[in-house]
Amino acid sequence: MIKNIEAVLQFKKVIVQTFEAECLPNNITLDILRLDLLHPVISGNKWFKLKYYLQDALEKSFAQVVTFGGTYSNHIVATAFACNVLKLECTGIIRGEQPAELSHSLKQAQEYGMKLKFVSRNQFNNTDEILQQFANAYYIPQGGYGELGLKGVAEILSFIPALSSYTHIVCAVGMGTTLAGIVHASLSFQQIIGISIMKENKSLEQEINSLLSQQDKSKSLILLHQFHCGGYAKKTNDLIQFMQTTWNENKLPTDFVYTAKTLYAIKKLVAENYFPPGSKILMIHSGGLQGNNSLPTGVLPFSI
Ligand SMILES: *Cc1c(COP(=O)(O)O)cnc(C)c1O
Repeated sequence: MIKNIEAVLQFKKVIVQTFEAECLPNNITLDILRLDLLHPVISGNKWFKLKYYLQDALEKSFAQVVTFGGTYSNHIVATAFACNVLKLECTGIIRGEQPAELSHSLKQAQEYGMKLKFVSRNQFNNTDEILQQFANAYYIPQGGYGELGLKGVAEILSFIPALSSYTHIVCAVGMGTTLAGIVHASLSFQQIIGISIMKENKSLEQEINSLLSQQDKSKSLILLHQFHCGGYAKKTNDLIQFMQTTWNENKLPTDFVYTAKTLYAIKKLVAENYFPPGSKILMIHSGGLQGNNSLPTGVLPFSI
């Protein structure tokens, strides 16, 4: 049996990068935890959400995994790759009818050996019914949402050498597991800011709350909903331009679905004097760069 999954998957070192040193007003500093450097495929936060689910599946001697995701899901790609290396069979239940041409993410997942099963949007939400067809498979919830996912993401902050020096921690929010884990591992005086990358995700607060303990709920958590640039996986010309500038000036690659919107939000909030003078901000770069593969080639000055 595989004892050390992380060694098998060959993870790289992550670093904390100082962003635009001396350029921010009011003595504010911004550091970025580069989780995107962890692995070229199992990107950033997706590994942390998967880790304890996969370990559990191996410990319980499952030979098969089943999980859920959308067309552009980084979670689907990461799960496919990890299962391939760990020699687990896997099926991805994909939301929506099968398109004439698969998205880049789904093609990649298929190349790693994942079987794809397309179900209608209505059926997709009926998880229990779908799972009846996978009685022998280990179930990983969509996006790694849930307690084992939370346990993994809570480890993210252990990569920060001087965690107590930060006053604010900012990260992108999809379904909220990552943010909940960061809240859990944060220090009591820190403010945690989640940038929702979906449009009007009204159930998000409640979904995050249901992952938080009583003690976590007493921490300072802010969810911002105005930085989605049109909605999930939508983009504006401004956003793309911002990604180009960020690369040219700081050699920082971002993805248009999550991390570019998050960094854009931070810069906007700094400009609007949201942060008190002297604030020390930490952004979690949650990875996801492979999502940029769905952009036409040449749009971005970097590739992964
Ligand atoms: C999936 C993903 C997120 C969101 O994670 P949640 O735990 O669902 O909120 C953030 N950033 C990137 C790059 C992702 O792929």
